[in-house]
Amino acid sequence: MAKVMTIRGEVTGDELGIVDYHEHLCFDAPGWLLREDRDFRLNDVEKSAAELRTWAQAGGKTLIEMSAIDFGRNIHKVKQVVERVPDVHIIVITGFNKPYFCDRWVWETDEAELVKRCIRDIAEGIDGTDMKAGVMKGGSGYNTFNAYDKKLMRIAATVHNETGVPIITHTEAGTMGFEQVDYLASNGVEPRRVCLSHLDRNPDFWEHRRIAETGAYLGYDCPGKVKYGPDELRNNVLKRLIDAGFGKQILLGNDLGRPSYWRSYGGGPGLDFVLTKFIPRLRDEGVSERAIEDMLVHNPCRFLTDGE
Ligand SMILES: [Zn+2]
Repeated sequence: MAKVMTIRGEVTGDELGIVDYHEHLCFDAPGWLLREDRDFRLNDVEKSAAELRTWAQAGGKTLIEMSAIDFGRNIHKVKQVVERVPDVHIIVITGFNKPYFCDRWVWETDEAELVKRCIRDIAEGIDGTDMKAGVMKGGSGYNTFNAYDKKLMRIAATVHNETGVPIITHTEAGTMGFEQVDYLASNGVEPRRVCLSHLDRNPDFWEHRRIAETGAYLGYDCPGKVKYGPDELRNNVLKRLIDAGFGKQILLGNDLGRPSYWRSYGGGPGLDFVLTKFIPRLRDEGVSERAIEDMLVHNPCRFLTDGE
């Protein structure tokens, strides 16, 4: 069976268990961003570890830490969090989130240089450590697919083609997902190696189905974030996708990248929301045990191991 790289080394697909495909555990958001929005200060090792423990107690086993280079990824702090909750597997990433977050140096640096930097994170280790990235990230802005968006997506494609690690993208409010898959494919990436984040920000069945028809994975990661619309909307699309035969292409996460989302920082719904509240609700709404197990266990395993 193909191996998956975690912060503590490789594990096999059957060791992954229940996966949360998109989270942020501990990172140092850029200074300018914090001045704009203090609610990105998710950087307290003890509080993050306490919250991660509640998720592990709810049955969580593997979590993908999606903080990218431009979002203030801090491998040392993530390591400290994991040391306090040693029974979970954490996959860390490389790459860039979206043009809006990127510093000037990303635009001033040659593309080949940026590719090299990401490959080093995957092949040798991140920021001088021996902890390696297991996923590549790219992303685009709200309803845009301009030269900046394309640069980040091309870097993701090249890094994937050279290393084989899967790509998880950022979509802004669930827009431009189809365009991302199409552009990655034209740069040599098989859609089945791509997962699009935040699609449930735009709970639109027609749009999700045409993305699913490419073979790409659909990331749902906004359960409980009512400010982005009630769970009823995402569940209606989710159920229609499952009924239409695309249940094996959905990954679940919660993308709780703000302290106001974490109980240990004084907010909510908390990192265990998907497992303790959202899944029971799906059951209550008639989603089968088999479909739930696909989304939590089998789909992420197939995505991360390329089906092996
Ligand atoms: Zn995120």
